[in-house]
Amino acid sequence: MTEERKTGREAQMSNIRAAVQVAETVRSTLGPAGMDKMLVDERGETIVTNDGITILRELSTGHPGAQMMVQASQTQDDVCKDGTTSVVVLGGQMLALSEGLLMRGIHPQTIVRAFNKSATVALNNLPLPISAAMNLPVVAATALRGKASEVALDDAANLCSEAAQRVNGDLDRIRVLTQAGESMADSYIHDGLVLNKTFANPNFLGKENPRVLLLDGGLDGFNYEDVQMQVQDPAQLNQIREQEMQILGNVSHTISEMCDIVLVRDGIHEAVAKYLDSQDVGVVSRVNQSDMDAISSITGAVIYHRITEVPEDELPRIEGKVEPKRIGDLDYVSVEAKESDTITMIVRGATRQTLDEYERAFDDALGVLSLYLNDGNVYPGGGAVLSKLAMVVRNHATNQQGLSARERMCMEAYADSLEIIPAAIASNAGMDPLDVVMELRSCGPDIGLYIDFSGEGEVTNTSSKGVWEPVALVKQIIKSATEVACSILRIDDIIARRGE
Ligand code: ADP
Ligand code: MG
Repeated sequence: MTEERKTGREAQMSNIRAAVQVAETVRSTLGPAGMDKMLVDERGETIVTNDGITILRELSTGHPGAQMMVQASQTQDDVCKDGTTSVVVLGGQMLALSEGLLMRGIHPQTIVRAFNKSATVALNNLPLPISAAMNLPVVAATALRGKASEVALDDAANLCSEAAQRVNGDLDRIRVLTQAGESMADSYIHDGLVLNKTFANPNFLGKENPRVLLLDGGLDGFNYEDVQMQVQDPAQLNQIREQEMQILGNVSHTISEMCDIVLVRDGIHEAVAKYLDSQDVGVVSRVNQSDMDAISSITGAVIYHRITEVPEDELPRIEGKVEPKRIGDLDYVSVEAKESDTITMIVRGATRQTLDEYERAFDDALGVLSLYLNDGNVYPGGGAVLSKLAMVVRNHATNQQGLSARERMCMEAYADSLEIIPAAIASNAGMDPLDVVMELRSCGPDIGLYIDFSGEGEVTNTSSKGVWEPVALVKQIIKSATEVACSILRIDDIIARRGE
């Protein structure tokens, strides 16, 4: 094993450069006019996406500095779902500007302290949120801009808003099922679960208030691959097979007596499925773990590991319906329970790739809607708030008493870095970023950069243009970006083990 070690300035610069490079990679996707990236994985499968965290996850970079940026974006995804690109772009800019400070001999700890102080100043001087009636589709549309095409935007924003409202912002109760065909306008919300599975019984009609057996295992008979047998006589083998069929026969019978529908995690032996079908018991095999858990949680049905664990007395009936459901030209399994409030968004779109991108974009939109439903406060987007905060921090750096000259320099760098968001949105729309940043410096708090649907940009009141983002999202972006920049600045030693 070789050990690679970098210390002091060399370690710092190496981390900073790697992190800045990550930021540069995703910067061109920021904002409504951001470009998409095409990612090709080891198996040659392609993803076309504009989503920060998705790109970063695929970026196979072994560098620790770059990894920290990916983690920061992941944290943002965990907390807010949206803003994953912004965190990296902003954190990257803080680091890029630190490079100049380090070159001038300013100690990293001084920079870290000044950056943290700047973040506090910014967060303590946030402008007043927009005072307007709750309008979920506007917030959803801001998160979806650049991801859903213009024609689909309103439908997508309304769908997400309705979903978020139905579950009152509790995202665990929303599931998304995508199916190619039709268009976004044909998407809808289904009460209950729709599983991407079909019944093994071709003519099963479904059951109302059924007894449901959930089995975390399989019903596939003996596994001949795992055992080694020596049989002298073919008759012996037949005997074993007969025994197997007998056991399976017993099992089938027991199941048919105990329930109306059985869903199992693994496979089901053909003979078992056939018998159960003849007894009008609905059979679904290879149900994945998360679906299993979801069914259990909405119906109250218990997941058993073995048939023998199921209690003697009958399984209780669930209140609801389990039935086949046809969407487009495909069959699914629908599970509805009276008391449950889980919903499934059935999302339609032309191709697999657009649907995958919708799914990712919906994740962002539902995330911000959940934040919005929580506190109802929003800011105008398009860099309006960050450019105002840049001024606040800059003023503080100039006017606050008791700061050293070095601290002032660092705070100014922090202020400048906040302007990278409107600058990047501008340059992605083909505008001159410096012009935009300068114009924003002389504007009031509601003024940001608005990009219209033809891709034209204008410095204007973005709030009245319907670009709204939750206050919690903006705060978290500032916090996460400052945190990752400071953590990277604090490292002065990289010890990497490579290869065995
Ligand atoms: P992230 O992954 O950080 O959410 P996005 O690509 O979604 O990155 O871009 C988000 C940024 O785009 C936010 O700063 C938001 O205010 C801005 N934005 C959204 N819609 C518009 C618009 N119509 N005009 C200008 N900026 C917009
Ligand atoms: Mg976004």
